[in-house]
Amino acid sequence: MRRPLIAGNWKLHKTLAEARQLAAQLAEKSRGIDDRDIMVAPVYTALTTVSEVVQGSAIQLAAQNCYPQETGAFTGEVSPLLLKDAGCSAVIIGHSERRQLMAENDAFINLKLLKTLESGLQAILCIGETLQERENDQMLDVLSRQVKGGLAGLSAEQMESVVIAYEPVWAIGTGVTASNEQAQEAHSFIRGLLQGLFTPEIAAQTRILYGGSVKPNNVDGLMAQDDIDGALVGGASLNAEDFLRIVKFSS
Ligand code: PEP
Repeated sequence: MRRPLIAGNWKLHKTLAEARQLAAQLAEKSRGIDDRDIMVAPVYTALTTVSEVVQGSAIQLAAQNCYPQETGAFTGEVSPLLLKDAGCSAVIIGHSERRQLMAENDAFINLKLLKTLESGLQAILCIGETLQERENDQMLDVLSRQVKGGLAGLSAEQMESVVIAYEPVWAIGTGVTASNEQAQEAHSFIRGLLQGLFTPEIAAQTRILYGGSVKPNNVDGLMAQDDIDGALVGGASLNAEDFLRIVKFSS
């Protein structure tokens, strides 16, 4: 029922030439894949280049961040409207690196999400607990706060354009992946939250991605879990062969 989505977050990597090359490889080698969505999120400066390269292919384009205003005196910021203009169909919002390094809180993330949806783009809302929070038994409270805060004020209709990415902070870029069971437990809890906040239908149709050291050798087990609908991939998305293997998961 839920169409799988594999999204690559390139973070602060790839020059224009490198981005062009990787995008061209992905576009070429993903030809014929039509039963899942594939997305890449390059740095801002590579968006238009990658957009041109992937045009007509199965690869969709996302941005890694946005600012919750359309235009104005906001030096250094980029709005969802301009990201759409650059060829994006989605924006990653609330990545843990931004929560931690840029001190983004749930209220600000919520503003970005609302502006992204208002601009006609999909939003990928990232949530996840730190190791300390998990060890202190705060995981469910943290996920609950991030889901409620991030999705505050959204209508059921708007939820159709929202994807959630569960990314335990302790698994991002560490090579430590949540076990299939740990990931499924968190995803099932998040789906339960959506049911309470919206409706059983919304909960059943919302895609929940797992992120955190997803690699070719662990993607199949993760994707076999009932409530895991895709992956948000960092490190392994920088290499065409690895990312394509993840895209071609079998569950
Ligand atoms: C991410 O950046 O969202 C991520 C999950 O990174 P990695 O796959 O490298 O852990």
